[in-house]
Amino acid sequence: MSTKPHPDFLLAGRIAARVMSDIVKDVRPGIKVLRVCMLAEKKILEYGASGIAFPCNVSINEEAAHYTSPPADKRVLPDKGLVKVDLGAHVNGYLSDTAVTVDLDGSYEKYVFAAKEALNAAIDTIRPGVRLGEVGAVIERTIKRSGLRPVHQLSGHQLKPWILHAGKSVPNISAAKSPEFLVGEMYAVEPFATNGNGTIRHSMVSYIYSNDLKNKKKLDRSAMQVRNIARQRFGTLPWASRWLHHLKGTADIDTAIKNLERVGAVRGYPVLIEGKNGLVSQFEHSIFVGHEGCIVSTRRNVE
Ligand code: MN
Ligand code: MN
Repeated sequence: MSTKPHPDFLLAGRIAARVMSDIVKDVRPGIKVLRVCMLAEKKILEYGASGIAFPCNVSINEEAAHYTSPPADKRVLPDKGLVKVDLGAHVNGYLSDTAVTVDLDGSYEKYVFAAKEALNAAIDTIRPGVRLGEVGAVIERTIKRSGLRPVHQLSGHQLKPWILHAGKSVPNISAAKSPEFLVGEMYAVEPFATNGNGTIRHSMVSYIYSNDLKNKKKLDRSAMQVRNIARQRFGTLPWASRWLHHLKGTADIDTAIKNLERVGAVRGYPVLIEGKNGLVSQFEHSIFVGHEGCIVSTRRNVE
C-alpha cells in the first residue's frame, strides 16, 4: 500500500472543496434546489475534474440523504431548516465525497455544531491500527454531548478508484468488533446528528441510480438504449435520472428506468428519511490514512 495519497485523489478533493465553498453562498431561502444541483455539477467539471462522482445531493430537514433534483424540479429552499449539500468529483476514477450542513435561519446551530465537531473528532482519531468502531464511538460521544443522537443506520465508507461505497464502513456509533484502518486506505467519514431516533426509512422516490454492469436481462428497445447509455457514461458511478432526460420525453425515460430497476439492471437510491422525521445535520470529508494519521483531501479554505 502506498503511504502517500495519489495526486489524483488530492486533486479530486481540492476540486470538491472549491465547489463546496462556492456553492454554500447560494444555499439560502427561496433558491431552487435544481439550481444548487446544476451549479455544483457544472463547477465540478469547470474546476478540472474528469467527471462528477455522484449527483449533487441537497437534502432538507428530515431527509438525511439522497435527494437530488428530478428534471424541472420546482422545489425551493425553505425559510428555515437544515440543508445538507453533499457532492464529489473524480479524477481518473479517484473520488472525493464531501458534505456540509447549512442552517438557513440560524435556529439549529446545535445540529451544525454537533455533526461538525464529530467529524473533526473522528479525523483526529483515525490513524493506522485504530479500529473503525473506535471512531464510531468518538462520533457517538461527540454528538451526544450536544444532546443529539447519531444516525446509526448511516455510515461512512471506504473509497476505492471508481467505487464510491467500497469495502469497510465507518459506523456513526460504537461497534464491538471491527477492522482497523490501514495505511494507504481512502475513506469518506460522515457523521449525522439528529433529534430523532437515528434510524432511517426509505421514501417512495429515487432520483439517483447506479448500474449493475453484469446484468444481462433483456428488455424493450427503449430500456436497453437507456441501459447502454448509462453504462457507457457513468460506468460504476451513481447517476441522476435528470442527467438522461434530454434523451427522450420524461415519461419514456422514467418508464425505462423503472423497467431497468425491476430486472436489477439499475439500482435506485431512495431518498432517506430519518425514522422519526427528526431534523438531520451532516458533515463529511474524504481522507487518506497516512502513517501519521488522516490527510484530508476535501478541506476548504475557510476551515
Ligand atoms: Mn457524501
Ligand atoms: Mn459518503
